[in-house]
Amino acid sequence: MSSGTDHHHETDPRSPEVRTEALEDLLVEKGIIDRTRVEALIERFENDLGPMVGARLVAKAWLSPEFRRRLLDDADEVLAAEDIEGAEIEHIEIKANEPGVHNVVVCTLCSCYPWALLGLPPNWYKSPEYRARVVREPRKVLEEMGLSLDTDAEVRVWDSSSETRFLVLPEQPEGTDHLDLEELASLVSRDSMIGVAKAQKP
Ligand code: FE
Repeated sequence: MSSGTDHHHETDPRSPEVRTEALEDLLVEKGIIDRTRVEALIERFENDLGPMVGARLVAKAWLSPEFRRRLLDDADEVLAAEDIEGAEIEHIEIKANEPGVHNVVVCTLCSCYPWALLGLPPNWYKSPEYRARVVREPRKVLEEMGLSLDTDAEVRVWDSSSETRFLVLPEQPEGTDHLDLEELASLVSRDSMIGVAKAQKP
């Protein structure tokens, strides 16, 4: 029997993953960056700065009408009071979904996105196709992404810029009034805060 220790992976040498890894190796080898710092940075974006920051804001707004009112009135003031800071949230506006009104966010010009609330932007958000089409035919794009809206619902598309970035406050799913903050936050996906999905049912 052969030993089976020779592990071979088929990878496209031109894929972004392979290229990024090669670049990282080179920078580490040259002593320009430190591997543990890179790992820490990625973890910070994925866990701490990632969508959970936004999700907790949404959950808090579901729990407290007063907090919701403040968030919709002046999100910047709330973020400052909550000690939330980080990249690309200099000015944030929160748009609440309601029965008959659905909000969705895009950056038609480039890929402006509230990093400190949502983490790293997904690739589709940065794609020329999403950026062009969601403005022209939002309902169709949302349908393709798995979100069917009522035919009489109004769809509002918000175009982000370097001055103003938007976050969608999704509707609280029915039957979740008994849940606590962390349980509610776990229902709030990144996509639901961009407006291409709804908050999940537990
Ligand atoms: Fe942009």
